[in-house]
Amino acid sequence: MAKTVPPRPAVSLSPKIPFPARKVTRERAARELAILEQSYPNAVTALLYDSPFTLLIAVILSAQCTDARVNLTTPALFAAYPTPEALAAAKHVDVETLVKSCGFFRMKAKNIVNAARAIVELHGGRVPEDRAALESLPGVGRKTANVVLSVAFGEAEFAVDTHVFRVAHRLGLTLGKTPRAVEDDVVKLVPREKLRHAHHWLILHGRAICKAPVPLCAQCPVRILCPSAPLVELLLATRAKVRSASGPARRDASGAAVARRRRSP
Ligand code: SF4
Repeated sequence: MAKTVPPRPAVSLSPKIPFPARKVTRERAARELAILEQSYPNAVTALLYDSPFTLLIAVILSAQCTDARVNLTTPALFAAYPTPEALAAAKHVDVETLVKSCGFFRMKAKNIVNAARAIVELHGGRVPEDRAALESLPGVGRKTANVVLSVAFGEAEFAVDTHVFRVAHRLGLTLGKTPRAVEDDVVKLVPREKLRHAHHWLILHGRAICKAPVPLCAQCPVRILCPSAPLVELLLATRAKVRSASGPARRDASGAAVARRRRSP
């Protein structure tokens, strides 16, 4: 009688890459950052804007949304409401229609109209240049305030978004569990005059090479210094071994490759 082989649990072929357990030395971090600076010498925000007000609105809309999508949305929005006064007088429902493609559009429409009202009523129609006032605006947290302060006003601030968080960890610049902790660590490593550019180095690197599911370490200019490179290599080797032992991989619901389950004969 044929022996029944119980099915094995599916093995994920795309497990998350663990972050390094230790920070790199200060000297090594400086070398990593210098390479990123050389790699992205003209790094600027990808968001289209022509004033602190339009930058603020674009950054609020960019939460959980790509910059490219925001850039498709804002021209019509700013054509309809070019100033804080115009947006402050808008009906939420009209703004919702214009920002619908950005996701969370009801909340975002409400936030940008209410932020415009606060700018008009409390700040004379000008986006405030200090952190406390910025962070008191609807829809504005520390990350958004840091982007506006550094990009629109040239302040030495460092904003941490999902790309910056990931790349800073992979490079061993931080062990911080929160965006604020990552910000505090990186701020200590970057000369003050370069701080407002450092955010863009890490974002561009995260988008182009140090991607979330699988970083392209073979193309990475920082590879030789990066403590994650051996981890990624090990992961890819393990994945290849599982795949060759299991035959062609199937995809799970999220699209990640999973090993075949052994079937009962
Ligand atoms: S070597 Fe790999 S993990 Fe490290 S920064 Fe480059 S792409 Fe990211």
